[in-house]
Amino acid sequence: MIEYYSTNLNAPRTDLAGALLQGQASDKGLYMPSEVPAFAPDFLKRARDMAFPAMAAEILGAYAQGVFTPAQLAEICEDAYNFPVPLEKVQDKRFVMRLDQGPTASFKDFAARFMGRALGRLVQSKGSELLILTATSGDTGSAVAHAFLGVPGIRVLVLFPTGEVSDRQRKQMTTLGNNVAAISVDGKFDDCQALVKRAFADPDLKGLNLSSANSINIGRLLPQSVYYVYAASRLADIAAGEKVVFSVPSGNFGDLMGGVLSYRSGLPVARFVAATNANDEVPRFLATGTYQKIEPSRECISNAMNVGHPSNLARLVALYGGRMDETGHIHQAPDMEALRRDFFSVSISDEETKATLARVYRETQVMLEPHGSVGWAGLERLNEVDPSSRAYTSIVLETAHPAKFPAEVKACINVEPPLPPSLEGLEDKPEVCGRMDASYEAFKAHLQKEYR
Ligand SMILES: *Cc1c(COP(=O)(O)O)cnc(C)c1O
Repeated sequence: MIEYYSTNLNAPRTDLAGALLQGQASDKGLYMPSEVPAFAPDFLKRARDMAFPAMAAEILGAYAQGVFTPAQLAEICEDAYNFPVPLEKVQDKRFVMRLDQGPTASFKDFAARFMGRALGRLVQSKGSELLILTATSGDTGSAVAHAFLGVPGIRVLVLFPTGEVSDRQRKQMTTLGNNVAAISVDGKFDDCQALVKRAFADPDLKGLNLSSANSINIGRLLPQSVYYVYAASRLADIAAGEKVVFSVPSGNFGDLMGGVLSYRSGLPVARFVAATNANDEVPRFLATGTYQKIEPSRECISNAMNVGHPSNLARLVALYGGRMDETGHIHQAPDMEALRRDFFSVSISDEETKATLARVYRETQVMLEPHGSVGWAGLERLNEVDPSSRAYTSIVLETAHPAKFPAEVKACINVEPPLPPSLEGLEDKPEVCGRMDASYEAFKAHLQKEYR
């Protein structure tokens, strides 16, 4: 059975259930599997013919031994992954994988939907109840809210900063009802985050069984390893060892970590492009060996990647033999040579992001949005710096639907992105939403009154 250890090495090991329910380890470290399970010997041969949910159940099954049976995982994954994963050819050997067909039109649906169902089962088998608190600046809150909608035994409360989410993002959180509530906080994202963190640490609220579904939770990471295998199995002869290149637009580096896990399990990957916006702390780290977080983070049009200190970096460092604590301090250096071999990390400016989005549309009619455009520009940069990389089948992860960023996309190509079915009809749904200022006392009183 795979155990989960804390990257700070100062908390007891646990199984997947413990890691999912706790989120963060007691020593403030992140849970990591004690070993990355190798794919079954014939798995890469079978992969090409496997449907996405079956592939997910097999890959996640190795991480969930002793916690979920294969039959339970098959049910969870059939239910969670009921939408397509389009692979779109853009140019010879270059593809876009669209991870935007879930209910909230970003790749965050993949992990959130697994986690909602997995936590729901754990809570039910224990007969307990859980209140999930989530602070969000947009995409996470809507993905988590949709994923936990209607799950028995779990209630969700999402906090978002009043003026700082788009109408579309807000409506994805305020029109659900049922076990999902939303509060608009007159403050910044950081204020929402501070309220949630204080509530977790407040002994008076212990009885509420608070939990979190933020990107620190290992449940928000493992499911993101599946679509790498899916794409490679469809586009390359991975059973014969043919290697592929992935380009991943990155902020907290959870998406990329998913790919790295599959690589460690045996997926033939030539290289990962870790593409960031102007928040370039990771490209600099790889170039110089010195890590320096960016505070405050820089505002870019690929706003879901405005992260100055990625929470998953400690996990990447751990996989490469080093140790980094939650503040970003490196206690033991990772194998920098291996990191530089496996990752090409590059920072893409807003200007280049817009120019790439416009050029790709003009030349190929493929519509990207700002995050995917950062990924595409990153791949182009790799191909320039290392022309031999052009020989590989290359896959850029498009992490959101263009209609989530209509103004930015229209400014580049002068075309309004068409709405996917998941975002249609939002305008007409009634909203229910609380509102408060960023006072902890008021927030605490609300929790004690509404969730006793
Ligand atoms: C969250 C998000 C990202 C960044 O993913 P990480 O796992 O944090 O690196 C990229 N694009 C979109 C659209 C997102 O919502």
